[in-house]
Amino acid sequence: MIECGKCTECCKVLKVPERKKGLWEDCPGRIDKKGCFDYIGRPRSCREYACLYAMKKMPTELRPDNLGAILTIFAHTPDLLVVHATKPWVWTTLPLRQLLGQFRKENFRVKITTTGTRKT
Ligand code: SF4
Ligand code: SF4
Repeated sequence: MIECGKCTECCKVLKVPERKKGLWEDCPGRIDKKGCFDYIGRPRSCREYACLYAMKKMPTELRPDNLGAILTIFAHTPDLLVVHATKPWVWTTLPLRQLLGQFRKENFRVKITTTGTRKT
């Protein structure tokens, strides 16, 4: 795993049953831009989140808070790239379009969620 630095994007997005947090809901554990109040003791859902950046599978300059999107591939759907768009303008950016093009060339299916998406 790689250090997340100032990125806290997944705290906006991921489902954390341990904190009764659904997709795209605010986390009760989050404190503004300082991130998690208990990072060391954060729930398993957070520790095991399949963020491709944190797994060192993306270029360092494309950290999710810079890119405007989090890319994930879950173990139970290895051919599906899930893109959580945290910035509305992200679809206009070349880096994301290039990344998606690479995954599609490798026959990945792509699922996109945005801030309008609630619970699954
Ligand atoms: S989105 Fe990825 S890089 Fe950003 S805080 Fe979450 S795990 Fe770390
Ligand atoms: S528990 Fe902490 S790491 Fe997990 S989503 Fe909430 S603020 Fe983020």
